[in-house]
Amino acid sequence: MNAETFPPIPFLDLKAQQARLGAGLKSRLDAVLAHGQYILGPEVLELEARLASFCNAAYCVSVSSGTDALQIALMAEGIGRGDAVFLPAFTYTATAEVPLLLGATPVFVDVDPRTFQIDLNNLQERIETVKRAGKLKPRAIIGVDLFGQPADWPGIASIAAQERLFTLDDCAQSFGAVQNGVRLGRSADATATSFFPSKPLGAYGDGGALFTESAERAALYRSLRTHGEGTTRYEVLRTGMNGRLDTMQAAVLLAKLDVFEGEIARREAIAQIYDAALNDVLEPPARMPDSQSAWAVYCVKLPDEDTREAAKAALAAAGIGHAVYYPRALHQQPAYRASHDDSALPVAESLGGRVLALPIHPDLTNAQVARVAATLTQALER
Ligand SMILES: *Cc1c(COP(=O)(O)O)cnc(C)c1O
Repeated sequence: MNAETFPPIPFLDLKAQQARLGAGLKSRLDAVLAHGQYILGPEVLELEARLASFCNAAYCVSVSSGTDALQIALMAEGIGRGDAVFLPAFTYTATAEVPLLLGATPVFVDVDPRTFQIDLNNLQERIETVKRAGKLKPRAIIGVDLFGQPADWPGIASIAAQERLFTLDDCAQSFGAVQNGVRLGRSADATATSFFPSKPLGAYGDGGALFTESAERAALYRSLRTHGEGTTRYEVLRTGMNGRLDTMQAAVLLAKLDVFEGEIARREAIAQIYDAALNDVLEPPARMPDSQSAWAVYCVKLPDEDTREAAKAALAAAGIGHAVYYPRALHQQPAYRASHDDSALPVAESLGGRVLALPIHPDLTNAQVARVAATLTQALER
């Protein structure tokens, strides 16, 4: 195949999605311009109700980003100095940044070599190590649903119950995913998601949401997202932040929510095409048992870094978008080295050189998916 004969295949195509959303999106935005309630307008309330019912959660509190959702959730528990927060080492920086920002210590946990999700045996070991050292108080586990797939929530919940830890689901990449017949949103004490444009349900700017079954937590989240306000605007009960989702983003999300389930189904179909087409040259991404992925990322694992670099070069030459999530485990990043206790986390450390994400946005055609798979196959057969 010759690159010049084909137009490029973008990793993400928000323009195609916008064209598909059409008039529904415009009328949602026009409604906001007409009423002018740009902060906590009616679309924000409508979105919170729709999101809560989408994942069958008792409460949804929309916020300004996925990162702020994580921060508000930890602030509400009073997590800070002297507290240990356990989280996977192979994730986006926001997961670890938030506990550190609040004065707590992120304790990095290794991940499973097949699913890339938090490794529960290592989680238990890391908790024991912190308890034995006696310097930090174990307080919380942030489970990350990486790349669209749920983490092992029944497993995390049982360790958390035994150790009396707060569970926070970092569902930034996986809103819409299902585990044991239940959508993510109520698998942990609190669930945080992100509406960053490239996430499965993306806004046209920053946004996020928190879900919980607890009325007390939901009330705290509402207070914290508006400067710790009480029952009136100028009653300040606690240190909070400016953490609201704005009405324009809520309007965009309402329009996108109408097509969201169809998009997840399309992503699943694309994943299956890739699985079948790539089966001869690599092992398809492992699925979590009894789960349906939201397919934020279709991530393959190559034998070594040289092979991965060759694959990247072949895709680039063919004009095919691709990405490496994540080139380095968090405990190896300069920002987190001082928080880490020098334990080896061999799986997280090795994945950075081997992973490669292929385009999986819902506007890809089957022919484009086939071309991505053929290009990668050719590169790997060399
Ligand atoms: C994107 C992401 C976040 C942060 O979400 P923002 O909305 O960008 O702040 C947090 N955790 C994970 C795992 C993410 O992928």
